[in-house]
Amino acid sequence: MSVNLRIPGPTPCPDDVLQAMSRQMINHRGPEFAEIIGRITASLKRMFETTNDVLTLTSAGTGAIEAAVVNTLSPGDRALGVSIGVFGDRFADIARTYGVDVEVVAFEQGTAADPTRVAEALRKDGSYKAVLLTHNETSTGVTNDLEALAKAIRAERPDILILVDAISSLGSIPLPIDAWDLDVVFTGSQKGWMVPPGMAMVSVSERAWKAADQARIPRYYFDYKKAKSYLEKGQTPWTPAVSVYFAMDVALKKLEAEGLANIHARHAKLGQYTRDNVKALGLKLLAVDERYASNTVTAVVVPEGVDGAALNKIMRTEYNTVLAGGQGALTGKIFRIGHLGFVTEDDLRACFDALKQALPRVGFAPAVVAR
Ligand SMILES: *Cc1c(COP(=O)(O)O)cnc(C)c1O
Repeated sequence: MSVNLRIPGPTPCPDDVLQAMSRQMINHRGPEFAEIIGRITASLKRMFETTNDVLTLTSAGTGAIEAAVVNTLSPGDRALGVSIGVFGDRFADIARTYGVDVEVVAFEQGTAADPTRVAEALRKDGSYKAVLLTHNETSTGVTNDLEALAKAIRAERPDILILVDAISSLGSIPLPIDAWDLDVVFTGSQKGWMVPPGMAMVSVSERAWKAADQARIPRYYFDYKKAKSYLEKGQTPWTPAVSVYFAMDVALKKLEAEGLANIHARHAKLGQYTRDNVKALGLKLLAVDERYASNTVTAVVVPEGVDGAALNKIMRTEYNTVLAGGQGALTGKIFRIGHLGFVTEDDLRACFDALKQALPRVGFAPAVVAR
């Protein structure tokens, strides 16, 4: 029996995507690779709903966060970090590591960022060069209203840089990059893209390219300009994860055949299905306001007196179901169910069937069983 991998990345991959990775290597400076990267780039632009440049980097998602910082900012620049969890904090940390002066507006875990408070912070201090946003906070299962945030930010500062960690949302949750006027937006292959880890994909606006001309943080591996000039030749500056490009090529064909609107609708439906089942068990969502609950990952509060680690262990060893735990301050306090990428209602139904049996064994009587 195959494992029901219900973590928010790496996510399961379709067989043909995995098979694509077993093929022989090719010359990454030859015509076949040029065709593949050309096809991937064109497809990503459609999936990102952007006419901006789209670059692919061989990297984890965190590399894309770092790239956004080093390509657009200078030491001493002021940036406003907006954090609703671990990944918002990470964005701010990385910027600070490179000497950016980051002010963080933090919101309680389980809540979304309030656009009014973000706008107020920008009004109070006109020196910010960039705003660092997380679209979908994977650590809390909350999706920010990015459209409202971007509008509020632009109303205060029409030309400020808006940098967005959309690692666990882009491709799964609506995020029309051009319509929302976002400057740098990035994601990673192992989240909603049904591809193994190894590729980060980034959209870079005209405004961001202008900032890149001025940006003085040292950079080499993650230099957008090098990536762009090599892309014009159908290459990457350094050896890419060739097998991941093979996989992405196949996955994008499947995703485009399904259609962006259908993919978004599927994730919305599965997100609702997950929340409905969590509540039916008598469990609580960490997301305080369900309107902001994520359609790619659900964070569930571990009930009083229950050992979250023990629950996850029973799920894994006896029900072949791998859940994610909490991160940082939420360790032991929540468990998370990933429902992004190559996932169906059957996968989630199996997960809840297992939870119904596992929960009583860690001292919690699920509502549907007790009834
Ligand atoms: C997964 C994730 C990351 C980190 O990606 P890595 O590939 O593990 O570096 C960052 N931000 C968000 C929102 C994520 O979901």
